[in-house]
Amino acid sequence: MSSDCLFCRIAAGEIPCTKVHEDDVCLSFMDINPISPGHTLIIPKRHYTYVMDMPPDEAGHIGSLVPRLAAAVKAAVGADGLNLLENNGRSAGQVVMHVHFHLIPRWPGDELGFRWPAKKADFGVLKQQAEKIQAGLKG
Ligand code: AMP
Ligand code: ZN
Repeated sequence: MSSDCLFCRIAAGEIPCTKVHEDDVCLSFMDINPISPGHTLIIPKRHYTYVMDMPPDEAGHIGSLVPRLAAAVKAAVGADGLNLLENNGRSAGQVVMHVHFHLIPRWPGDELGFRWPAKKADFGVLKQQAEKIQAGLKG
């Protein structure tokens, strides 16, 4: 628990939230500034800045809840689709430095749009990158 972390304080019950689910490991609540109706967050109660810092059991616990939570969020607002998003680092859009997963309901033609600037890959580069990732997984 970090007393200067907003989400630690929410997890500790010091700051109110609109709760969706709570157990020993995690808390889910409504985003206070939703980017679409039903925008929901799920966080580990313990403080980790990035998903990379999370122990496998806590990440696994949250991961195991996501399908049911995503289905419930989507059904609650009658959405057509849903983005699961998790920002790591300021460059990736992270503002609250306590790891959290966004569940963002979507509708065809909604104002969020979708930016996905795909480019054709060089297979040599892909292979190099894959090998480096594989080496990192072994470490
Ligand atoms: P990110 O940009 O991934 O760090 O997202 C942070 C999210 O936390 C934003 O969507 C905010 O609207 C949301 N947020 C900030 N303060 C609160 C709060 N007190 N209760 C619920 N959601 C919050
Ligand atoms: Zn925290």
